[in-house]
Amino acid sequence: MPLYKQELSGLDAGLYLRKSRMEEGLDTDEVLAKHQKTLLNYAKENGIHIIETYPEVVSGESLYARPQMLRLLQDIEEGRYDCVLCMDLDRLSRGRMKDQGIILDAFKDSETLIVTPEKVYNLSDEIDEEYAELKTFMSRREYKIINKRLRRGLQQTIEDGYYVANAPYGYKKVNIDRKPTLEICESEAKFVRMMFQLYAQGYGCVSIARHINALGAHPHRAAEFNRSTISRILHSPVYVGKIVWNQKKHIKKGVKGNDKNVVIYQPKEKWTIVDGRHPPIVDQELFDQVQAILDKRYIPSKNDGTVKSPLVGLVKCANCGMNMQRLVMKGEPYLLCNKPGCCASTKFSLVEDRVLEYLTRTLAELTLFPADTLASHDTSVLETTLDTVQKELASTQRQKSRLYELLELGEYDIPTFRERMEVVRNKETVLERKATDTLRAIQDAKAADPAALAEKIRYVLENYATSDAAQRNALLHSVIQVIFYHKEKKTKPTAFYLDFILSPN
Ligand SMILES: [Zn+2]
Repeated sequence: MPLYKQELSGLDAGLYLRKSRMEEGLDTDEVLAKHQKTLLNYAKENGIHIIETYPEVVSGESLYARPQMLRLLQDIEEGRYDCVLCMDLDRLSRGRMKDQGIILDAFKDSETLIVTPEKVYNLSDEIDEEYAELKTFMSRREYKIINKRLRRGLQQTIEDGYYVANAPYGYKKVNIDRKPTLEICESEAKFVRMMFQLYAQGYGCVSIARHINALGAHPHRAAEFNRSTISRILHSPVYVGKIVWNQKKHIKKGVKGNDKNVVIYQPKEKWTIVDGRHPPIVDQELFDQVQAILDKRYIPSKNDGTVKSPLVGLVKCANCGMNMQRLVMKGEPYLLCNKPGCCASTKFSLVEDRVLEYLTRTLAELTLFPADTLASHDTSVLETTLDTVQKELASTQRQKSRLYELLELGEYDIPTFRERMEVVRNKETVLERKATDTLRAIQDAKAADPAALAEKIRYVLENYATSDAAQRNALLHSVIQVIFYHKEKKTKPTAFYLDFILSPN
């Protein structure tokens, strides 16, 4: 009977099918169909959603001779599943010892559960006995050496110009001599060429994103293109037939005092680039032209430690819930939503002035009518907001169930399902964040001390003018929890709206 029943309900799963050692002589299709039936029943009983099935028809001992396993590994590394369902642990991990290490690590690092009808394995749980058992049968030292050797093998494959990661936009993954490389996917490649051409003509990433979206293009893992996805494509040498590595550096949990895995994007000088085995989509001349413009427009990332916006982390788009960003356009800083076409932008200084005006007015109200300002009028508005948000959350829950139904009925194929699901999930995240913010604001307002808040606001206003951007940001954070920004397109420059949630304590 199922174990952990309540914990499995609602999980998204990949289904991995492979013959066991005992079944080696039997007809593959028959055996896999039988297992599939058993596992689908199990999934149904436990409320697990099967998103995709990985039937291993050809199966060798080496990982590279198990195409479905390779595909599954990529998908779990991207965090697509909460768990993988299979008949027993042996189907998953049987093979050469070095391959076992890779497979188990992928499950462990992505915190994906392995679910068999008999037992649930959680490899990210260090004290899981089963994992300890597995580890002893490949002694730790041996495992490490072998794993390192395999990684070196993989590195060699990359250096030889093969492409081991997921296909970038514009390409499809294919195998040549059983090694992975890319082939042009013309329906996407035409948009890639367009992006490069438009950028060379002087268009910015935001307007290119808008244009490409309007033509019906979709990136691989999001609903639409935005400034950063376009920028990433324009920067990528893969489109002139190159292979790049060392773009990202991974710092593992526990190293250098990190409490989680961290990814750092390296500067271009540290990238390693070789000729790939795949065909280019744009020619070198156009690519170089685009790189020259990009270098001139290069805006240091927000991770360089210097705060340029006093409003960083404070203003959210009321439409989509994303943080609004400060961006310099034609020498003038603007505040804009990262999502193309979402809401109109405003000159940064106008927003900053409005924030200070609001604080000045609140200070006056707090001094004159301390009791009203926080408690009564503020929470009634907030409570209505909370109520609306909670209703919308309930409706996203219904949308999710409906999507699973459509997938099961075969109305949706997997890419459509994923795309729709991602949209609903994003919406849900925004709503959840808004609910938390609002709830906290209500609690804060109820417990607020008007005199103390007035004192803090006065301090902010007195010191604002003489502070630098980082200090201003800290000052504002001391009294404001979040500001929701809204502006309709084609309205006057000052026709934007700000909703403030103060942090009175
Ligand atoms: Zn937005």
